[in-house]
Amino acid sequence: MLIDSHAHIQGKEYAGEVAAVIARARAAGVETIIAVGGAGDMSSNSDAVALAARFENVYATVGMHPHDAKDVGNDELRALRELTSQPKVIAVGETGLDFYYNHSPHDVQRRVFAQFIQMARATDLPIVVHERDAATQATEMLRVEGGGSLPGVIHCFTGNYDAAFAYLDLGFYLSFTGIITFKNAEPLRDVVRKVPLERILVETDSPYLTPVPHRGKRNEPAYVRFVAETIAKVKGVEPAEIARQTTANVKTLFRI
Ligand SMILES: [Zn+2]
Ligand SMILES: [Zn+2]
Repeated sequence: MLIDSHAHIQGKEYAGEVAAVIARARAAGVETIIAVGGAGDMSSNSDAVALAARFENVYATVGMHPHDAKDVGNDELRALRELTSQPKVIAVGETGLDFYYNHSPHDVQRRVFAQFIQMARATDLPIVVHERDAATQATEMLRVEGGGSLPGVIHCFTGNYDAAFAYLDLGFYLSFTGIITFKNAEPLRDVVRKVPLERILVETDSPYLTPVPHRGKRNEPAYVRFVAETIAKVKGVEPAEIARQTTANVKTLFRI
């Protein structure tokens, strides 16, 4: 059985269809889905929490994507802090730094990321980090603000070997998406080859980043098996072993 450790199934892309999406995931061997809040607007958080309340095998996280850091003030932080006390909220995030798209100014992204790191520490929850073109800054912030013991995952990891090992050094897990199935992703598959399986998670980041052979269509949690199968191939182990270990990793990290 697999766990999709990062999906935005509360999004409008699945309106009226969530039960079917979850059923298809189950049928494909995906036992649990983590509905990640913070992609879009604040309602993505309460919607994720509502889904977790409605479906036994769905858990939720609350945060705000670095793209939207400019919209995070004290009111939003207070509301999200309150949501962390809801049952089945298992992490703070997604949060982080995205210096590729730069939808929010860097200093604002850094301020909000620091605030979410503090929220994770104060609530004793792990953190779900989105980082693009900011590995040096993110590792430094996690080291300094995180106090050296904050558990978490770098989701949709697409960095190089040096970045991977800087995060592993901090005790973080690395989560891989359908990007590793893309033809031109050989450098990333090489990173996968070198990262210990004990520190790897799999995710879809649905509705984005649809793996081959469904690339170009809407993504959904059932497709996380294509990510797991690619890791199996790259590492030369059975897909069942990838499922067993990545599921154990999710349960350890998020304490579920
Ligand atoms: Zn992300
Ligand atoms: Zn995401």
